[in-house]
Amino acid sequence: MKILLTNDDGIRAPGLWAAARVLRRVGEVHVVAPEREQSGVGTSLTLHSAVGVAPAPVDPGLGEDGEAAHPVVAYSVEGTPGDSCVVGLESVVGPVDLVVSGINPGSNLGWDVVVSGTVGAAIQGYVRGYPTIAISVGAVVNPQFEGAARLLRLLAQRLSQAPASAGFFLNINVPSIPVERIAGVEVTRLGHRSYAESVREEGSGTDKRYRISRNRPVPGEPHPGTDIWALKKNLISITPLQITLGHQEMMPEIEGLVSGLSAQLLGQPN
Ligand code: MN
Repeated sequence: MKILLTNDDGIRAPGLWAAARVLRRVGEVHVVAPEREQSGVGTSLTLHSAVGVAPAPVDPGLGEDGEAAHPVVAYSVEGTPGDSCVVGLESVVGPVDLVVSGINPGSNLGWDVVVSGTVGAAIQGYVRGYPTIAISVGAVVNPQFEGAARLLRLLAQRLSQAPASAGFFLNINVPSIPVERIAGVEVTRLGHRSYAESVREEGSGTDKRYRISRNRPVPGEPHPGTDIWALKKNLISITPLQITLGHQEMMPEIEGLVSGLSAQLLGQPN
């Protein structure tokens, strides 16, 4: 099995190497990750300049446990998480059997997936038809990757035995707690808004700046069965994703709104 591993936290991030350590038990691991940390850049791509790629050192801690393992190679990318995945799949690595993005410190729940660089990178695997997993743990400070790493190994093993069907794209969130305290594994649907922005003004006059933080939890109880709910219950949340921003139910209302609009637009009497 050939695996492309990327992230949005940069090539030196501990969560990336926690994933590499377990995935190399299942297949050869090709790490292609941004040179610098870029959480929250979403699906951003570098389209107006060339993107540099350089071989990167593999975490020296990888070989310490002595268990049999497949090779790991690594490249750092002077670009976004999305760039890393695109360049990896289209050129540096080529076709793979599995794309993994993570392990991200900090959850990516509900509508956060459109801001997440972890999911943003993963989308580039999904749109190319590769089985793809984005994986995060629920803490930014002192994240515990053990549960997520164990899960990743088990899932990769299962996928190597029974390949996934077309459109396989999972967004996984694992509670950042000791493995023995994890309450179970739940297949969930994507919740709605999980975090809101707060904006703080800095300076005054022409020096005035606005600092945007995503640190305000949205009040109210999350709906049971959603990813936001599961993580609150200390459950591992596994959400199948697809890209469907289209809103079919809204079409009749919009048909009403635009009725007669084309005649008006073209300057003809209604
Ligand atoms: Mn991140």
